[in-house]
Amino acid sequence: MFIQADTHTHTIASTHAYSTVMEMISGAAKAGLKGLAITDHATAMPDSPHIWHFHNIKRCVPKKYDGVEVVCGVEANIMDYEGNLDFPEKELKPLDWVVASMHMDLIKPSTVENITNSYLKLCENPYVDVIGHCASPNFMFDYEKVLKAFKEYEKLVEINENSIFHKKKFRENYVEIIKICKKYEIPVIVNSDAHICVHVGQVGESIKLLEELNFPEKLVINTDWEKVKEFIVKKRGNIFE
Ligand SMILES: [Zn+2]
Ligand SMILES: [Zn+2]
Repeated sequence: MFIQADTHTHTIASTHAYSTVMEMISGAAKAGLKGLAITDHATAMPDSPHIWHFHNIKRCVPKKYDGVEVVCGVEANIMDYEGNLDFPEKELKPLDWVVASMHMDLIKPSTVENITNSYLKLCENPYVDVIGHCASPNFMFDYEKVLKAFKEYEKLVEINENSIFHKKKFRENYVEIIKICKKYEIPVIVNSDAHICVHVGQVGESIKLLEELNFPEKLVINTDWEKVKEFIVKKRGNIFE
């Protein structure tokens, strides 16, 4: 199994990442990808870019470069147990790709009930495309109930290479998540969450895990860039013209 697009990546605009947009595009081209999403941290994160980064990005970044189609987005922060994000509708709407994630710096670990509620409420946000690294042991939730809701509301469950590679507990939780996604045919997306250009498209551990669990390739949406594009076009119109 191979991915054709990497849809969760950070540039130097988030200061704990180390490559420019153009370096990330070159990284994607080198990795043989057809699509790349740039998703720097939304503004509640201490190292996030200024809001102007998001206002200007689509005007500046080429839609296609070096054979790679580029989608401009954000990694928004889930701020509370009601599923509210740090970006309101007026900031999310102009962007073409939204990953929504929980981060320890911004939301405190809580009960399964609270985290479940947060994710279920998040489902109602029409701008969210991907649920970022949801296997965190700090934010446990009712996997069956919530993952089924993600399918119903067309939120893609992210298999996050960065987490699997660095954190053992995440990997264990991902095993459970992947098994449930397989059982209920819930689509997933495999992303690097790269913080430097050489990591773009590098998702070997995630693929290995999916293959070990005999996860069907057809449910991994970014094994086909056209499928990701269809997902975007259905929601936002044809941004690729
Ligand atoms: Zn994150
Ligand atoms: Zn990230």
